[in-house]
Amino acid sequence: MKTINIGLLAHVDAGKTTTAEQLMYVTGAIKELGNVNKGSSTLDYNDIEKQRGITVFSEQAELIWKDQRINIIDTPGHVDFAPEMERMLSILDGAILIISAAEGIQAHTETIWYMLRENDIPTIVFINKMDRIGIEMDALIRDLQRLDNNLLSIQHYKGIGESFQGIESLIDGLRIYDELVEPIIESDERLLEKYLEEVKIQDKELAGSLKKSIKERKIIPVLYGCASRGIGINELLDAMSNLFSPYEPVHQLEQFSGLVYKIKMHQQLGKLNYVKVLSGSLRIRDTITIDDEDYKVTSLRKFSGNKASLVDELVVGEIGAITGIKDLKIGQVIGEKVDYMNDWNIEPVLGTRVLYENDQKNEVVKLLDILNEEDPSLNFQYDSQRKVLQIAIMGMIHMEVLKEHIQNRFHITVDFEKPFVHYKETVTDKSTGFCHFEPKKHFAEVEVEIEPNETGKGIQYVSKYSVDYLPVQYQKVIEQNIPVALKHGVLLGAPVTDVKVHLIAGQHHLEHTHGGDFRMATIRAIQQALTKNNIQILEPYYAFRVIATQELSGKIMSDFLQMKGQLDATEQIDDKAIIKGIVPIATSMDYPIKLASLTGGRGIIQYKFHSYQPCHNSDEVITDEANVIERDEKLYNSITILREKKKMKKVVMTDEVSYDN
Ligand code: GDP
Ligand code: MG
Repeated sequence: MKTINIGLLAHVDAGKTTTAEQLMYVTGAIKELGNVNKGSSTLDYNDIEKQRGITVFSEQAELIWKDQRINIIDTPGHVDFAPEMERMLSILDGAILIISAAEGIQAHTETIWYMLRENDIPTIVFINKMDRIGIEMDALIRDLQRLDNNLLSIQHYKGIGESFQGIESLIDGLRIYDELVEPIIESDERLLEKYLEEVKIQDKELAGSLKKSIKERKIIPVLYGCASRGIGINELLDAMSNLFSPYEPVHQLEQFSGLVYKIKMHQQLGKLNYVKVLSGSLRIRDTITIDDEDYKVTSLRKFSGNKASLVDELVVGEIGAITGIKDLKIGQVIGEKVDYMNDWNIEPVLGTRVLYENDQKNEVVKLLDILNEEDPSLNFQYDSQRKVLQIAIMGMIHMEVLKEHIQNRFHITVDFEKPFVHYKETVTDKSTGFCHFEPKKHFAEVEVEIEPNETGKGIQYVSKYSVDYLPVQYQKVIEQNIPVALKHGVLLGAPVTDVKVHLIAGQHHLEHTHGGDFRMATIRAIQQALTKNNIQILEPYYAFRVIATQELSGKIMSDFLQMKGQLDATEQIDDKAIIKGIVPIATSMDYPIKLASLTGGRGIIQYKFHSYQPCHNSDEVITDEANVIERDEKLYNSITILREKKKMKKVVMTDEVSYDN
């Protein structure tokens, strides 16, 4: 039996948990329906989720439907949990996007949509709450079409709101109703050719083509229902098992390889490493290779809701947890090394300091370590200079939920300071840096060139120096340490980004060079190049979109200009103005609250991380001690280390370097 891993995604309150409950109930995975309103739902077993009725920590459940195994994976619904959601996407074979017919498409729905599109995840849209009053179906369909024109209704709904009667599928097994035939043919060139040549197209062929187009996101089926009354659930299950394709390994390998996509600290079982099998299979007592070391698999588990069951094997496409294996990290590929799409690019741009009772520091550090293990984007750090604990966050709600989570899970009370933004540094010129590293019995010499890269392109590294002169093993050490070297800039000690780095020269010693010597030389050479460059501070920007009445648009635009925003042309829809642009996060974090009072809660604001741009108040930022990031000065200085003083003359920080020794 093949397995399909399907994520449930939605804006908070669209009905994700209710739908998940129904799917489990109908397939017999649970005997009794839980109810989110009474705090008894199966997937949200965490305390806060019960209290708040929102899903914060993603869980999964195994369903069997008509000889198909379906893992449904619940994902966090709030925008502040986007990093966790994006990590989950990398293991999905398909996604169900649940939209409330009453609330329609919201800012977070759009964020999810772009993430699904960027990650090429086949998607089905489930329009829930068809029984609610006040649904404007035309507007909803128009918004959906604006989002993506590959959407295709595969059902008719009967009635709407209080008179919602249910749905009628336009697909019945292999039989596809006439009104779907044309769109299916149009999205498949091969079929279109046949059709134009008037060759008869078989039902089976049409069904196969539909499945293929869904896989390629050329068709995104739309279904309707009312989860709270169980309407449309069977049809949703049919669609999940018939229209999605199970995982196909990209690499046709016999051997096991797997992706660690989630880590969870379990009270009884310890550290659970959740793995998706990318190729081969993993059996209990197998030996797997992790970072060139062999490990024996001592336990394998599958999870459904909060129930764990031991299994003997996980086969390709399946997900499960392994325990007892050393320090695995989220995003790591274990077993056979294969490339796997997992560029998780939502990073928190806000930071905050943790406040706690004086005598509880050790406990707080311990619990933050655990949380950081489960969600590395938390980026927990101890600033030993200022003696403060610091974490990264996505927004105000993330902060609130975290506080409650810590209270409920660890019974410790913490608080957080007002968030601050994370700055970055970049270069504006081209410069070179050199390091001759030669303490006793060590030797490495590195010369690099650094120059600006396009905004948002991050760090690019290319060696321009032949491996004939510097052996490949040393070049590898240099390459590995470029990101380490750029972890701290020279102005604030903030991460350096949007730069191109080239290796232009280097030297080793047959006897004295140790691998680690090139690490030191690389870091120092880069630090020297930075010192010689012109450094610019970058700050994070939101892309914003505000929808408000015409009368207020002037006031809102001037607010954004005052916050150093840059405005795009204003659009107009009916009697509303749409104001768009980008704005520094530092100046605009609180604006949603201000806008709510300005518009009496009727203005709509959407914020999304946009990019790192030159800082609007660099001088202030640089002089404010609070922005300085502590770095290890032993590592991050730009000084050349020599055994003998007299050699210093030859290699002082100049551009001309002689390599004769
Ligand atoms: P989630 O935040 O997306 O997980 O949403 P929940 O499943 O917790 O549902 C949010 C609220 O909407 C709850 O009060 C549900 O009872 C209600 N709800 C869910 N589905 C429907 C539906 O089809 N119709 C109506 N009227 N209410 C629903
Ligand atoms: Mg929920």
